[in-house]
Amino acid sequence: MASPAVEATAATALRSVMFRVRQAARRVGREPDRVRVVAVSKTKPVSLIRQIYDAGHRCFGENYVQEIIDKAPQLPEDIEWQFIGHLQSNKAKTLLAGVPNLAVVQGVDSDKIANNLDRAVSNLGRHPLRVLVQVNTSGEASKSGIEPSSVVELARHVKLHCPNLVFSGLMTIGMPDYTSTPENFRTLSNCRTEVCKDLGIAEDQCELSMGMSGDFEQAIEMGSTVVRIGSTIFGPREYPQKHPK
Ligand SMILES: *Cc1c(COP(=O)(O)O)cnc(C)c1O
Repeated sequence: MASPAVEATAATALRSVMFRVRQAARRVGREPDRVRVVAVSKTKPVSLIRQIYDAGHRCFGENYVQEIIDKAPQLPEDIEWQFIGHLQSNKAKTLLAGVPNLAVVQGVDSDKIANNLDRAVSNLGRHPLRVLVQVNTSGEASKSGIEPSSVVELARHVKLHCPNLVFSGLMTIGMPDYTSTPENFRTLSNCRTEVCKDLGIAEDQCELSMGMSGDFEQAIEMGSTVVRIGSTIFGPREYPQKHPK
């Protein structure tokens, strides 16, 4: 359980983040309401998520299947859950069945995952699922996501062959040390231009999910429409030690 002091801190941190998001948007003459904040609650207890919910926030992100299917049923149904990051294709059905109010999967990086999600939506008879294609813009082998050169093809596959998915945009994770982040963000933005041209959709109908705790203001200044913010709202993550000494 989070202590009351931690909870007060999280609500205050949320307000501060929302303020910084609006300021960043205004600096470049963008509409502040066009930037969505996904509060990334992975590893954090339900009681703390509830505090952020009570502070008025409704959009939360998780990136472990077991964790989101444990937490979602304990929290209000009007939460807009987003699954962020890589999803194992054999977990698509478990995820969708376990989280009826899952709104978005930000992490489609292969035809196989797209097909499995499409089939799971159909089998469960749920409304179409919005998906973002994850792009590896940094070229790091450790990162999931498809190469920028394959984005058009995957987006086209989703649009043409996955009737239960709604292609909604692109997502990337910048470099951990932030030095190449602008370059990564520019790459994602260029991918969007290509995809929109190919699919014949307007750029403002294609989300750009980029920016995390350390780089969200810069991402917004570069056109991000979705920022995923964890530790700046919830505090640093403490992972349980798998092999205690
Ligand atoms: C954990 C995570 C975040 C949030 O990271 P912070 O640096 O804590 O804001 C954003 N995106 C993805 C894909 C994540 O896994």
